[in-house]
Amino acid sequence: MPTTPLTHALPSYLDPAHVGPWGIYLQQIDRVTPYLGPLARWVETLKRPKRILVVDVPIELDNGTIAHFEGYRVQHNTSRGPGKGGVRFHQDVTLSEVMALSAWMSIKNAAVNVPYGGAKGGVRVDPRTLSRGELERLTRRYTSEIGILIGPTKDIPAPDVNTNGQIMAWMMDTYSMNVGATATGVVTGKPVDLGGSLGRIEATGRGVFTVGVEAARLTGLPVEGARVAVQGFGNVGGTAGRLFAEAGAKVVAVQDHTGSIHHAGGLDVPAVLAYVKEHGGVGGFPGAEAITADDFWGVPCDILIPAALEGQITEHNAGRIQARMVIEGANGPTTPKADDILADKGVLVLPDVIANAGGVTVSYFEWVQDFSSFFWSEDEINERLVRIMKGAFGAIWQVAQEHKVSLRTATFIVACQRILHAREMRGLYP
Ligand code: GLU
Repeated sequence: MPTTPLTHALPSYLDPAHVGPWGIYLQQIDRVTPYLGPLARWVETLKRPKRILVVDVPIELDNGTIAHFEGYRVQHNTSRGPGKGGVRFHQDVTLSEVMALSAWMSIKNAAVNVPYGGAKGGVRVDPRTLSRGELERLTRRYTSEIGILIGPTKDIPAPDVNTNGQIMAWMMDTYSMNVGATATGVVTGKPVDLGGSLGRIEATGRGVFTVGVEAARLTGLPVEGARVAVQGFGNVGGTAGRLFAEAGAKVVAVQDHTGSIHHAGGLDVPAVLAYVKEHGGVGGFPGAEAITADDFWGVPCDILIPAALEGQITEHNAGRIQARMVIEGANGPTTPKADDILADKGVLVLPDVIANAGGVTVSYFEWVQDFSSFFWSEDEINERLVRIMKGAFGAIWQVAQEHKVSLRTATFIVACQRILHAREMRGLYP
């Protein structure tokens, strides 16, 4: 008689042959496992999300018809604290993507040692097709549906792709209405007048800049005069580009969903930012040469900052990249194959799980301020942010030197050890 295995290797939705973001995350875990020592006993814990919630989000459109959208909230791990991670609204969001993004939040939060697990949410919708009223109804219904999982001590959403302070305000209000009391700590990235933190909007870009400058110092690359190319000129890429320009670097190319622009002498960054604000993207910006989306990757530069979506640097374009350093402002922009190509070329990759951790670090400050109802000055916030980012990056740099591994694997070593150590100390229930 064939025997039935006690447990299946993986739940059905975690097909190990899976490609895409979740498959990439699993490969990253496989790469780190040999460095985990006895903690490797617990590594399976990281290969399955703790909880997955898929919700139907019906709303009435302005024209009177009813539309249904698919929403998700995934809590990947809560060994070190409540779930924490953003919510994205995008037409291409999938469960597999949200699972990967939630797992990267677990790694990121452990890498900077903030007391959170990892979570992420999303709605499969192109928000640009919705009116403001429709967007509000979608946000409120989604928040209500995931209300069984979120809460100030359970799981704390925040902005991500296509979500912002206004959406966080609606989320906070909806949750508060449902529980019968204003609960500012349920989301971070709120407007400052509603318990938000100074410095939160710029925090991710500031963190990207901070680790970039640190890595430049450690590798002897002068920031002054360095040529920088940025993909995505929104909250993250726009802020990082501006801070690099203010430090004397030249932003020579920018790409977003509306086009790609190049100016070897350096773009006028404040003018590009103003243009993006008015036109919704860099496409058509006067005072720069328009280049093809493909040619953007081959632009001569020293620092490349992918700050848009995942899966942008692949085996097809990695060979063309001329930068000495890639700073991942986006989550998951580089595939493992591209990572190997860049490593062979001697390009230093500062991985997302540390490079873009500035956002969640200031989210943590916001959450602490909300709990204590005592708010800090912007200088204090930026100073603490830089201290945490520099400290975390320095420790990861040491681990990379010690084990002769990439900074991505080193970040995973530091983070997975923290998560699995917490897991081991807590023990299995029952
Ligand atoms: N969405 C941001 C990220 O990917 C911030 C998450 C947060 O602040 O919770 O890191």
